[in-house]
Amino acid sequence: MAQYDYDLFTIGAGSGGVRASRVSASFGARVAIAEERYLGGTCVNVGCIPKKLLVYASHFHDDYEEAVNYGWNVGERRFDWATLIANKDKEINRLNGVYRKLLGDSGVEIIEAHAEVIDPHTILIGGKKITAEYILVAVGSWPVVPKFPGAEYAITSNEAFYLPTLPERVVIIGGGYIGVEFAGIFHGLGVRTTQLYWDKLFLRGFDDDIRRTLAQEMRKRGIDLRFDVLVAEIAKSSTGLKVILTDGSAIEADQVLCATGRTSKTPNLGLEKAGVKLTSNGAVNVDAYSKSNIDSIYAIGDCTDRMMLTPVAIAEGMAVANTLFNNKPTKPNYQNVATAIFSTPSCSTVGLTEQEAREQNYAVDIFRTSFKPLKHTVTGRDERTMMKLVVDQTTDKVLGCHMVGPNAEEIIQGLAVALNCGATKAQFDATVGVHPSAAEEFVTMRTKVV
Ligand SMILES: Cc1cc2nc3c(=O)[nH]c(=O)nc-3n(C[C@H](O)[C@H](O)[C@H](O)COP(=O)(O)OP(=O)(O)OC[C@H]3O[C@@H](n4cnc5c(N)ncnc54)[C@H](O)[C@@H]3O)c2cc1C
Repeated sequence: MAQYDYDLFTIGAGSGGVRASRVSASFGARVAIAEERYLGGTCVNVGCIPKKLLVYASHFHDDYEEAVNYGWNVGERRFDWATLIANKDKEINRLNGVYRKLLGDSGVEIIEAHAEVIDPHTILIGGKKITAEYILVAVGSWPVVPKFPGAEYAITSNEAFYLPTLPERVVIIGGGYIGVEFAGIFHGLGVRTTQLYWDKLFLRGFDDDIRRTLAQEMRKRGIDLRFDVLVAEIAKSSTGLKVILTDGSAIEADQVLCATGRTSKTPNLGLEKAGVKLTSNGAVNVDAYSKSNIDSIYAIGDCTDRMMLTPVAIAEGMAVANTLFNNKPTKPNYQNVATAIFSTPSCSTVGLTEQEAREQNYAVDIFRTSFKPLKHTVTGRDERTMMKLVVDQTTDKVLGCHMVGPNAEEIIQGLAVALNCGATKAQFDATVGVHPSAAEEFVTMRTKVV
């Protein structure tokens, strides 16, 4: 007779939890997973996937406009938000079903309810106590809305995906990647869009050349970017909402979207009662194997606040499965994780920013190029693509690659492989480019700018 009901009990069927559970089951573990909201978690329901569908929708405006100089005569254009949201929801429902089937086919038992940890081996769910040798906390994160008068009138990205109608005017508070992406989405769909950020330049943590270039490009498109501003209050007005800034000025809007960060979804989970240590911002404190201070409790993904990205949560889930049930203690590899911003135009990055390289005392050479994409020589659109390489002078290794421009998200993946192989600038230079493409610029930059 087994000592516990399950070998593994996972709380949260998002990117990380589903992968850890399926892979653990494939190694022969008896696994159950609890999900209180939606199978597939944030990424599938209110994150990466619906976001990218909305980004696609927002690009048609440009496509129609640009088609004219290529000889296309495009007729009357009308956009219907309700059709977009209905079709997006249809795809998400399909994905929820895919996740249900994947878990079922792997032999993982799904329990659709809120779960709480009672002690290092016991979970309370639906009024019932269940025991497991290991508990995996994969509860994700949740949007944070700062406290200021009228904050209750603002929505977060969660609600933005389900707005009943498309607003005419939107104010976005926050300058992280989610705010930037929604600014591009709303603007592309014809919404008058203002984005506010408290510091001098948005996208903190990204290379300064990405931050500056994207700001220029968004402004050229007509997005009203305002930096160094603080929101004092959101008030109701005769036409909707009024965002009042600390300098006394005000912006009228129909919707205000707070994209002001996310925090681990650890409240109401019983972790502290079970003796699990949390960081000051509520994330589960884990070691390199994702183990908490309690030997039987592991945590992965957004709730550990390491890198809030789907592929990272998945890699952490795989590593836990290998560690616990495949006799292969595994630490996830956080080296050169490539990321993209699905802004318009898009951005991508891998490795060190120029600032990080300098802070880490590398002597660096900087290679940078800025050019008009070939497509726009005919469309006439005033848009520049920026690409940048950060190179270690001593070893010639490429430390970082950064890009703003169409298809940046597709181009960066191959460069991440090169960086993980320790590619040098000389090897980039010795690689023959694909012509004509933007990507070839990464192997043809010869002149140092710094
Ligand atoms: C708008 C937006 C856009 C994004 N875009 C990208 C992108 O382009 N690329 C990228 O890599 N990442 C993106 N992300 C981040 C990505 O979605 C997350 O990093 C990823 O989903 C984290 O996976 P996870 O398994 O840690 O948590 P989640 O996917 O959030 O899953 C956690 C699950 O746990 C459930 N849960 C929580 N508490 C309990 C409980 N007590 N009992 C039962 N169930 C519970 C939740 O309902 C949820 O389903 C985006 C996020 C947002 C919000």
